Order: sequence, then structure tokens, then C-alpha cells
Amino acid sequence: VKQGFRCASIEKEQTLGIIKPDGLLSNYTDKIKNVILDSGFVIRNEVSLQLDEDSVRTFYAEHSSKSFFNSLITYMTSGPVLVMILEKENAVADWRALIGPTDARKAKITHPHSIRAMCRTNSEKNCVHGSDSPQSAQREISFFFKEKSAAVYVFLVLKYCPISC
Ligand code: UDP
Repeated sequence: VKQGFRCASIEKEQTLGIIKPDGLLSNYTDKIKNVILDSGFVIRNEVSLQLDEDSVRTFYAEHSSKSFFNSLITYMTSGPVLVMILEKENAVADWRALIGPTDARKAKITHPHSIRAMCRTNSEKNCVHGSDSPQSAQREISFFFKEKSAAVYVFLVLKYCPISC
């Protein structure tokens, strides 16, 4: 390509983020949102909800046989949650990296700058949720935002190349 403008594409991905009841109750919302925005995410949509038992059962269906399932339902229905569609390049992996490991106590040691380390309680009350794959992101976004289904957008931008590129 010669010097000048050329067309480049940027793929924006979407993922689902949730601030869980312990995050909202402990007033971490503003801190978490600042981390989200400082990390280059756009919050495309957000809604505050009180989840009921059926919703949590469906949302976390993959964990229905786990010993912690009933406790997880009690936790997730213990107060309101803030559900967000987060958008940026590589949003799914970047949001998972930002929240840190499931067990907030381990996060404190291995990922001290993660959100779960910041809120730190334990392997259940870990403050935030993040979709674990692009497929999960699509399913989870559709679960809360009925009008949404696509999770990847491609933007065409003009890029200036001062030398050949
Ligand atoms: N959880 C729990 N006990 C465990 C593992 C998980 O209570 O031993 C809860 C915790 O709130 C976690 C959620 O169940 O965030 C979903 O578990 P998953 O393994 O999908 O972890 P995540 O993807 O949230 O890191």
C-alpha cells in the first residue's frame, strides 16, 4: 500500500458484565465503572435488576449440579444487580482478565489489580460476572437484552499511513 489513506477495519466485540449484589451493596459501582471506562470499554447498555430465583437458575444452568448452586441462587437474589453490555476490541477476553479469577481471595494474590481482588471476599461473593467466551456473551446478552443478539461489530475506518504500509 502506498503512502496515504487506506481503509482498515476494527472489530468491536461485546460482552456481558454484571455487578453482583455484594458489589452494589458495598458501593463499589462507581469504582468498577471507572475501571471499565479507563480500560477502554464503552458501556453500550445497562439495566439495574432484582433477579428472581428462576432467572438465576436459567442464567447459571450449567452449574445446576454443583454443590454451590443453591447458595449461588440465594446470593444472586440477595439484592439488585447492574447488568451491562461492554464493548471494545477483544471485549470478552479483556473483561475476563480485568475481573480476575473466580475466587476473590486468590485474585488478591495472583491478580492484585483485578476487580475481584479490589472487592475481595471469597469464591462465591466475587463482585462481578463476565462472559467466558464469545458464544456465552451472545447468549447472556440476549438473556437480559431481548432486542440484542449480535455481539460483534466491524467498523471501517480511514487510517493515514505517513510511510508505505
Ligand atoms: N461460585 C461459588 N462457588 C464456587 C465456584 C463458583 O459460589 O466454588 C459462584 C461464584 O459467584 C462464581 C459463579 O458461581 O462467579 C459462577 O461460577 P464460574 O465457575 O462460572 O466462575 P466465573 O466464570 O464467574 O469466574
